[in-house]
Amino acid sequence: MADKFDIIILTLFAVLVAIYYNRDFLKDLVLNSSDEVFKLENGSGSRDIVTVLKENNKNFLVVYGSQTGTAEDYAKKFAKELMAKFKLNVMCVDLEDYDFDNLTALPSNIMISIFLSTYGEGDYPDNALLFETWLKSLDQIDSSLKNINFTMFGLGNSTYEHFNGAAKSALKLLKENGANLIGDLGLADDGAGTTDEDYLSWNEKIVEKIKVFLKLDEQDLVFQSSFEINYLDNLNDKVFLGEPSSQYLPSFTGGVPFNKEKNLQTGPFNINYPYVAPIVKSIELFDPLSGRNCIHTEFDVSGSDMKYSTGDHLAVWPSNSDEVVATFLKAFNLKGDKIFDLTSKDPTMKLPFPTPTTIESTVRYYLEITGPVSRQFIRSLVQFAPDDIIKSKLLELSNDKDQFVKEIISNYFNVADALLYISDGEPWTTVSWDFIIESIPRLLPRYYSISSSALNEKQTIHITSIVENNRNDKVRLPPVVGVTTNLLRNIQLNRSNVPEDAVSKSEFINPLPVHYNLDGPRNLFHGYKLPIHVRKSTFRLPTNPQTPVIMIGPGTGVAPFRGFIRERVRFQELNPNVKLGKHLLFYGSRDLNDFLYRDEWEQYKQKLNGSFEMVVAHSRLPNQPKVYVQDKVKEREDEILKLLQDGAFVYICGDAKGMAKDTHSTFVGIYSRGLNISETEAHEIIKMLKSQGKYQEDVW
Ligand code: FAD
Repeated sequence: MADKFDIIILTLFAVLVAIYYNRDFLKDLVLNSSDEVFKLENGSGSRDIVTVLKENNKNFLVVYGSQTGTAEDYAKKFAKELMAKFKLNVMCVDLEDYDFDNLTALPSNIMISIFLSTYGEGDYPDNALLFETWLKSLDQIDSSLKNINFTMFGLGNSTYEHFNGAAKSALKLLKENGANLIGDLGLADDGAGTTDEDYLSWNEKIVEKIKVFLKLDEQDLVFQSSFEINYLDNLNDKVFLGEPSSQYLPSFTGGVPFNKEKNLQTGPFNINYPYVAPIVKSIELFDPLSGRNCIHTEFDVSGSDMKYSTGDHLAVWPSNSDEVVATFLKAFNLKGDKIFDLTSKDPTMKLPFPTPTTIESTVRYYLEITGPVSRQFIRSLVQFAPDDIIKSKLLELSNDKDQFVKEIISNYFNVADALLYISDGEPWTTVSWDFIIESIPRLLPRYYSISSSALNEKQTIHITSIVENNRNDKVRLPPVVGVTTNLLRNIQLNRSNVPEDAVSKSEFINPLPVHYNLDGPRNLFHGYKLPIHVRKSTFRLPTNPQTPVIMIGPGTGVAPFRGFIRERVRFQELNPNVKLGKHLLFYGSRDLNDFLYRDEWEQYKQKLNGSFEMVVAHSRLPNQPKVYVQDKVKEREDEILKLLQDGAFVYICGDAKGMAKDTHSTFVGIYSRGLNISETEAHEIIKMLKSQGKYQEDVW
């Protein structure tokens, strides 16, 4: 009689025979299913842009290089407009997802529109680095890109020296290689707060140019959805209820809540997969008399293999507040509990957020619904106007910039507020859900300069965030609030068990303008947790601790310098015999009520045996003149010049608009007076220091 082992061997043999005789069928099955997966990407899975354009019968290409999502948002809107207006078959893609080597073979009737943001010192955004390498590899001799007709829209900030540096550099390289720019280069200026208006005025001209160049017929703007929406009945383990990525779905974890088992959760953690970190400390840093709030938050990353370096940025993934979510659902008459799934009608188009999900989860966790509404959005609503009166109001607001500013922007309306204002409180039942999800950008993480030291605290990451809560002057309107910072303050008050009515009754505690679901989807955030990931920065202390360091960080700009000094304190503890270089910190606050980490600095001074000095400027002390960090830097200019000549590294952190520019001019002055050279020459020295990493800015 055959024993168990014989039976196993015989069964295995039978399976192998069956596989052999059905090998062709199985081969097809495997190939088809993998094809299916690739199809979700772009058809064949090729990275060659020209191949994919041809495979998908595309006749227009829109590409974006985007650091924070703004360039991506404009690129997608532009692509949608071209499709609706001219029935073009547009492919809109992330520069990182494709190779451009073959672009020389692009048929000249396929035009390209490039949306490119600039990051830091005129740098290309991370997802455009491959594109930059390719552009710079072209030999500029044989005009290899003469078949390329393109438009270009750059997104930058004029408070930086290299305003729109990436777009200007790409334009130059494209032109040098024979490519033909259609219309003018568009330049958006976030520093002036005019990005949306800059885009609109560029768009108006460029669409006309494209129409003429490609000899296109224009139709009325009619929205065409890029996604198929299927409504589902069953709320199962695969439905996202706001989970930041699929790894947090019960279907992925086998129903075990994440982190419960205390297994080390492994990364890499990034924009696609954050770590849901417990908040182990959360305190208010400002005195109630300041009238403002600043929250110190500590995230415990010991349950993960997440690492950071001192000077890095922490991305915090927010959710929208109960109040804003409720108004949004009301404005569009949406049923929050409806479950839906999305499939892309166009295989080259990525889904905007994870699905299947519910409408409420989408609004709470995946869409950016709090910020100001754009004139372009109001324009795109004209086609959905419920009646002629509202239609003419929409046309008036979208065509008359001043009227738009007067009625919408100066009231700080978000999308829902603006719509309810225009319709006099009536819900907009005419606007379809697919239009909403395609027109409203994705809610993105906010970045914070890490205020801890990786040497001193490996397992926790600290951030220091000022709460964005500007009470609206127009009494009947709600305050203007920031999404993430108010969430962090809600957590701080909740963790400290301050009852809500105590907050509302206290004359010392600012009322909470908005509230959040702190437990998150399926209680994922219960016990005060938030999704985070680390973004590497180049803001680094000199490797030699004897090198002098000059730090300028007013307000929350002091955050990374707290990390720097904690790093040096730990280093000194470990190496008591090393004499550190001078570490000079210029800090500024309004008065003593908003003096950040006031008690800590004295301890650091003692531990660093005289190598650390802090110089403080206050801009609003009663009966005192306003003093800013730049003034204090100037007062010490001889000593600073000496430190610079000794090889000091300079670090500036905080407000990009005023402080960083003024501080830069102060340093130009120090060099030109001290060395008796012209300001232009002084400027060149700072430029050189920047390129050597000896003058670094972390400004926002
Ligand atoms: P958001 O929701 O992003 O709102 C932004 C602003 O818009 C707020 O002022 C808000 O009041 C306003 N607003 C909201 N709704 C409207 C409306 N309808 N109309 C008009 N205005 C509106 N910040 C720190 O505090 N500390 C740091 O260490 C720090 N480091 C940073 C490092 C980097 C590299 C960068 C890029 C930024 C850094 N920031 C830092 C800024 C931080 O990322 C956030 O921008 C800031 O905390 C606001 O985020 P929020 O989600 O609360 O506000």
